[in-house]
Amino acid sequence: MSPAAAMNRYRPDFRDLLEGFDLPTLERDPSTIFALSPDLKLIYVNPAWCMFAARNDGEPELSRHYHLDTPVADAMCGPLREFCLQAFQKALCTGTPWHYDYECSSAEHYRMYHQTAYPLPLRRGLLVVNSLVREHVHVDRKPVSTGSTTNHYRTKDGLITQCAHCRRVQRPSRPAVWDWIPAWVSHMPPNTTGGICPLCFAHYWKPHVKAKRAAAPDLAHV
Ligand SMILES: [Zn+2]
Repeated sequence: MSPAAAMNRYRPDFRDLLEGFDLPTLERDPSTIFALSPDLKLIYVNPAWCMFAARNDGEPELSRHYHLDTPVADAMCGPLREFCLQAFQKALCTGTPWHYDYECSSAEHYRMYHQTAYPLPLRRGLLVVNSLVREHVHVDRKPVSTGSTTNHYRTKDGLITQCAHCRRVQRPSRPAVWDWIPAWVSHMPPNTTGGICPLCFAHYWKPHVKAKRAAAPDLAHV
């Protein structure tokens, strides 16, 4: 059975929520697409989403853990979680699509995506489309050979911190250094947690933090 068929991919009432969006079009789209209910639970994933998960060693775990009605928050970790949840809620409340660029690289390829969260008619949910913007083999990242050095990347608490965007791994002995370890992009060692490296923070987050401060100057600590 193909991964796309192995999972119940949409809630029975999903088609009725679309009104203007065409389900066969979503089904054919090569972009990975999922939809969320107003309380931000998974109500649809398209075949491309399943294929992407399978290609990136996400199956069968993804289908088992992120089945329909799973809160999308369960699929995120670290500061990225609050950032995305707030953005999704804002798009639902305002009825305005939310746009966001992010990196999701594999061990071999650099990949940049554009995400758009479209509010469904009557704000009965969100349709989240992830389109590939750019892909090429890594040319600017020198891999670090891990060998038996897994423990060099563990903190005192036994955790390994991986940047949620670029997938580099922080060195606890020199916290400013984040290494590119291709073998760990697909298969991270146990007890890995998500973080944000300084470069990704500067690129992806600072504009949003600045916008938030401008909207609410009293939030200087944000
Ligand atoms: Zn990063």
